[in-house]
Amino acid sequence: MPFESLGDKLQSAFKDLRGKGKLSESDIDGALREVRRALLEADVNFKVAKDFIAHVREKAMGEEVFGSLKPDQTVIKIVRDELTELLGGTQSKITLSSTGMTVIMLVGLQGAGKTTTAGKLALMFKKKGHRPLLAACDVYRPAAIKQLEVLGQQTDVPVYRMPPNVDPVHIASYAVDTARSYNRDIVILDTAGRLTIDEKLMAELRNIKAEVHPQEILLVLDSMTGQDAVTTAKAFDENLGIDGTILTKMDGDARGGAALSIKTVTGKPIKMIGVSEKLDGGLEDFHPDRMAGRILDLGDLETLIETAQRNMDAESLKDAAGKIRKGEFTLDDFLRQLKQVRKLGSFQSILGMLPGMGKFKDQLKDIDLDGKEVKHIEAIILSMTPAERTNVKILNGSRRKRIANGAGVKIQDVNRMMKQFAEMQKTMKKMRGKKMNPSKLGNLS
Ligand code: GDP
Repeated sequence: MPFESLGDKLQSAFKDLRGKGKLSESDIDGALREVRRALLEADVNFKVAKDFIAHVREKAMGEEVFGSLKPDQTVIKIVRDELTELLGGTQSKITLSSTGMTVIMLVGLQGAGKTTTAGKLALMFKKKGHRPLLAACDVYRPAAIKQLEVLGQQTDVPVYRMPPNVDPVHIASYAVDTARSYNRDIVILDTAGRLTIDEKLMAELRNIKAEVHPQEILLVLDSMTGQDAVTTAKAFDENLGIDGTILTKMDGDARGGAALSIKTVTGKPIKMIGVSEKLDGGLEDFHPDRMAGRILDLGDLETLIETAQRNMDAESLKDAAGKIRKGEFTLDDFLRQLKQVRKLGSFQSILGMLPGMGKFKDQLKDIDLDGKEVKHIEAIILSMTPAERTNVKILNGSRRKRIANGAGVKIQDVNRMMKQFAEMQKTMKKMRGKKMNPSKLGNLS
């Protein structure tokens, strides 16, 4: 997960401030030194990090912090606001033409995720009721045309293609004409990429731009490449002029430097982020404020709720929440929720969206929701009797052995799962005791 290590370091920078009734200038400077180090280690551009600290310091030294009742919270709030600014301030969406047709031109280096993103965008717009058309303008890599055709089949979106000897500028132009004739309202151009930026590529892209006047030229960038992504963005913007960026592979272990520097360095917003290889759900709107909350482990319940609304069964969620509140959450409920939760994406990404859940990361890291582990958990639970699922306390050693045999796993697997479930119940109990209000946790102001 990107930002994971940055998030950990930022939280530890604020640890010493916690619980202090009054903060001194040197307390704040000490914390900010750690924040600065954390940003640089996350591969944030040097100047961006320096300015960031200067802004936070200026605000923190004001009356705001010294006069507040919980100065540590106020400092975190200032950092959150400043991080939000760094990530672009307010959300910047892909703009669609309100009258005619929208042409979206995707550009970027080879391997950044352009073609995949074209497929994801097509599906996203289709789900919103649009009639997209994909156009294969990368004629240099024959596999790219094939790849787009496969994506077209998977998403049931038509793909416009021509033989590889046709000039990509013509392909783009014909694609737009064809879209018009077939009453398509969005054309997504997948253009050629190179391993490095070269003048021939830029000239071709400028020609396509001059020919079809795209509403949106979006630069697809691999977030894993860190500051190289920022350099690429600068070059594309200077040579072609871009409207925004799409940062892919945000589900990987990128340190976050690209996301945090791009807006400041290029002045162009991040419009979307790629969060998995999957076509469906693999692309999200980018909300700077929510991302800042995620980095600081203040959670991002809005995104989680939106994703859940799209993918999950609301009744079952409500039912589970009620059971957690009453302390009646059983292994059967656990299994049901596990199946639901799998629809949301990777487990680590879900944890990242829950306020305060960062600290359970290590405890829960062994759960591989996408693989074997879940199948084992399922088999273990299904091998139990209904009474056992309701009350795990009745499971003694010999019953566990029998369950392991029935599920085709080792007894250690059964024990480990029981331990995880017990930990979870303990956490739920604590949460009930504290009368935690998650909606408040995400909002410090
Ligand atoms: P292109 O050369 O720019 O068209 O790049 P591709 O679309 O072929 O993508 C290159 C690789 O990155 C492929 O293996 C994609 O599956 C992968 N990819 C693209 N976007 C994402 C993403 O958001 N997350 C992950 N994990 N992989 C991605």
